[in-house]
Amino acid sequence: MKAMILHGLTDLKSNAAPLTPGILPDPIPGPNELLIRVSTCGVCHTELDEIEGRTPPSHFPMVLGHQVVGRIEAMGSGTTKHQTGTRVGVAWIHSACGTCQYCREGNENLCPGFKATGRDVYGGYAEYMTVPENYAFPIPDVFTDEEASPLLCAGAIGYRSIRLSGIRHPASAIGLTGFGASAHLVLKMIRHRWPEVKVFVFARNERERVFARELGAVWAGDTTDIPPEKMDAIIDTTPVWKPVVEALKNLKPGGRMVINAIRKEDADKEYLLKLNYPEHLWMEKEIKSVANVTGSDVREFLTLAAEMPIKPEVQLYPLEDANKALLELKQQQIRGAKVLKVK
Ligand SMILES: [Zn+2]
Ligand SMILES: [Zn+2]
Repeated sequence: MKAMILHGLTDLKSNAAPLTPGILPDPIPGPNELLIRVSTCGVCHTELDEIEGRTPPSHFPMVLGHQVVGRIEAMGSGTTKHQTGTRVGVAWIHSACGTCQYCREGNENLCPGFKATGRDVYGGYAEYMTVPENYAFPIPDVFTDEEASPLLCAGAIGYRSIRLSGIRHPASAIGLTGFGASAHLVLKMIRHRWPEVKVFVFARNERERVFARELGAVWAGDTTDIPPEKMDAIIDTTPVWKPVVEALKNLKPGGRMVINAIRKEDADKEYLLKLNYPEHLWMEKEIKSVANVTGSDVREFLTLAAEMPIKPEVQLYPLEDANKALLELKQQQIRGAKVLKVK
């Protein structure tokens, strides 16, 4: 099969073509696995982290890509959940052990044996891939292949961050620090599922703040602005520390800060020294991170996204142009979510 292959860590600043086009043996589905013929695969910031070593692949060569939409071409022994030809999606979660305490409790995202698609196992920057049948998710009919691809990462993890924030009752107030792709999906989901919940957005630039108000935020200000009220939970999607420290003082007693970032940058780490216990943490405030996604996060999110529906703006590239898409993402040339059209 044709694939775009990563042979080792590199830096996109000095290497504009980190992936090499090549031919790999067609994968064969093992027991309980499906063979997927890939149609589209979203291009995610996490791929930049993998290429540049912040979240390195567990081995090389590696085929990146964890927002995969395709059709079931063949099934391994023992599969019972799907039919050949069905359109399915594959997300960041490729597999987990299924037997540890975390897996048994439905927290397979925390499993010590967690394997990520396109980091630990070949992903969707290729014509075919395999996945355990439990982690292939039927795609609702309202979405085209390319519309569904970007939902499989930012949307699913955004949904998990809302779950972890603990918002339940309509009187809740929730804050969002940073207003990129994931946060704006989070705002749309909250507005749809919990229309009474008040959403406050902290963003550095005015364009993002205007957009947040248009989407229904009751207030939008800069990171250090004082909002009109305190919040039950705040979801942080920034790569840095200043917004976290500044936001903690806006939490109510017992409030929770949820950090939705796979890694934080060290650039402003000294900002953490401004942490003032009585102001930022006293009164049982909590800080919690979001790690990976579970199967039920992806399944529940796809149902919610179809019901709303969320239709992402998409920019398509042929598979061979994966390097171009990655480079443009790195340079923040963004006009909608970037998606590779494989077949
Ligand atoms: Zn496990
Ligand atoms: Zn992703």
